[in-house]
Amino acid sequence: MKNRLRLAPSPTGLLHIGTARTALFNWLYAKKTNGKFLLRIEDTDLSRSKPEFTKNILEGLSWLGLNWDEDPINQSERINIHKLIIKKLLDQGLAYRCFMSEKESQQLRETQKKNGLPPKHDNRYRDLSKSEIESFISEGKSSVIRFKIDDNAQINWHDEIRGEIKWLGKDLGGDMVLSRRANGDDIGSPLYNLAVVIDDNFMNITHVIRGEDHISNTAKQILIYKALKYELPKFSHAPLILNIEGKKLSKRDSVTSIDEFKEMGYLPDALANYMLLLGWSPKSCENEIQSLENISKIFDIKDVNKAGAKFNWEKLNWINSQYIKNMDSNNLFIIFRNYWEKEGWEIPSREWGLNLTLLIQDSIIVLKDVLDQSKPFFKLQEVDNKSIDFLKSNNVKPLLKNVIELISKENQTIDRNNIKEIIEEISIKYKIKKGILMKSLRIAFFGCLSGPDLIESWLLLSEKGEDLSRIKRCLDII
Ligand code: GLU
Repeated sequence: MKNRLRLAPSPTGLLHIGTARTALFNWLYAKKTNGKFLLRIEDTDLSRSKPEFTKNILEGLSWLGLNWDEDPINQSERINIHKLIIKKLLDQGLAYRCFMSEKESQQLRETQKKNGLPPKHDNRYRDLSKSEIESFISEGKSSVIRFKIDDNAQINWHDEIRGEIKWLGKDLGGDMVLSRRANGDDIGSPLYNLAVVIDDNFMNITHVIRGEDHISNTAKQILIYKALKYELPKFSHAPLILNIEGKKLSKRDSVTSIDEFKEMGYLPDALANYMLLLGWSPKSCENEIQSLENISKIFDIKDVNKAGAKFNWEKLNWINSQYIKNMDSNNLFIIFRNYWEKEGWEIPSREWGLNLTLLIQDSIIVLKDVLDQSKPFFKLQEVDNKSIDFLKSNNVKPLLKNVIELISKENQTIDRNNIKEIIEEISIKYKIKKGILMKSLRIAFFGCLSGPDLIESWLLLSEKGEDLSRIKRCLDII
C-alpha cells in the first residue's frame, strides 16, 4: 500500500508557522515515497472552530505549494461514528462513565498540590456497579467517558526522528477522558485523542508526523489503537519552533501566521525553504537554498533534528533576498507592478517598469521593500539636511547649471554615453572630482546621498521627463 500522510489542523486560528512546517514534513515524506498527503480538519470543538479559519488554512497551504491529494475530511461529520466506538469501549468495559464533579476535581487538585504531587486523576469512578451508575444517572448527574489506563502499562514505539520512546501508564495522568461532559446516558462530543485514532485509521494513515508537544498524546493514542485492534502507523515527532528566548513560538510572538509573512513580502518558496531548515539539515546537499521539488527528492525524515529550532529573522531575510535575486525579472516585475498600482503610481511603459525592477532587484529583502526603493522614481523627495549641507559646502550650483545646459542640448535623447561624457566634461572644466558631481546629482534626483546606480536611475528619470525638473528644483533650494 502507498504511504498515506496527513495534516490534521484545528481551525481555531490562522494557519500558524508551526502547523505549516508540520505540513511541509508530511508533504515531503509523501512526495519522496510517492505516497499521498491528506487533510483532515479537526473541527469538533464547535465553539472555537470557524469556517474562516479552515479557509485560511487551506489557502495558506496552497500558497506555500503544499497541495493535498484527496478532498479534505471534516472531523465534525464523523462524530456519530466516534460515539458508536465510545459506546463499544463502554460495553467492553475498557471505558466507563466518570461522574466526578468540577468541585471534586478541584479538591483533588488542591490536595495533590498541598502534598507536592503532580496533578493526576485518581480514577475514583472506575469501579462503580451497574446500579450505582443507574442511580447517578437518575439523579441527573452529568458524566464524561474515561478510558482505563493501567498504571503498569508499558508503551513503546520507534519514533522515526527520536528513536525508541518508552512511556509508563502511570505517567499519563490517570484514566483518559474520551468525550466531553453530557447528561443522563448521553455521550458527549468526542475529544482529540479518541477521534484522531479513529479517523487516522479510517483514512488508512500509515505515517503520523507532528510536533513533539504531542509525544504524550501518542502514548495515550497507542493504548486506544490497541484497544480497538487497529494497526499502528509510524510516528515521528518534529522539534518545536522556538522564539529568541528559546520558548515555543506562540501567538504572543510578533509574527506567527502564514498570512502575516505573506503580507510582509516573503515569497512562498523562500518561506517554505526556511521553514524546512527549522529542524531539517540536509546531509546530502551543501546548498541550503533548494526548491521544494529538489528537496522532495532528497528528503529523509531521519535528517530532522531532535532539538528545538530557534526562529531566526536574519536567516529568513537572507533566504528571501536570495530567492528575489534569483527570480525571473519579468515575474518580479508583475509582483512589483501590483504594489505600484495599489499606491496609484503609474509607470510610463512596461519596459520602464522592467528596467526599474532590474535596477532594484538585488537590494530587495522582502517584497514590501519595493515601495521604499522605488518611491523616488515616482515621487519627488524632500532633500534632507545633510544633503543640503553637502550641496552648499561644495558650491555645486554652477556644476548643476552646466548639467542642465548640456542636457538641454541633447534634446532629451540622453543615453549612458552622454551621461558619462557630461560628468567627465564638467569635472574637468571645474577641476572637481567626478564623485562630487555624481553625489550632487543623486541628491537632485532622490533628495539624499544614497540610492541605486546613478546612471541607470538618471535614464529612468529622463524617460519620464523628470531629470531636468529635479535638477532645477535642487538649484532652487540652494
Ligand atoms: N488537531 C491537532 C493539532 O492541531 C492534530 C495533531 C495531530 O496531528 O494529531 O494539534
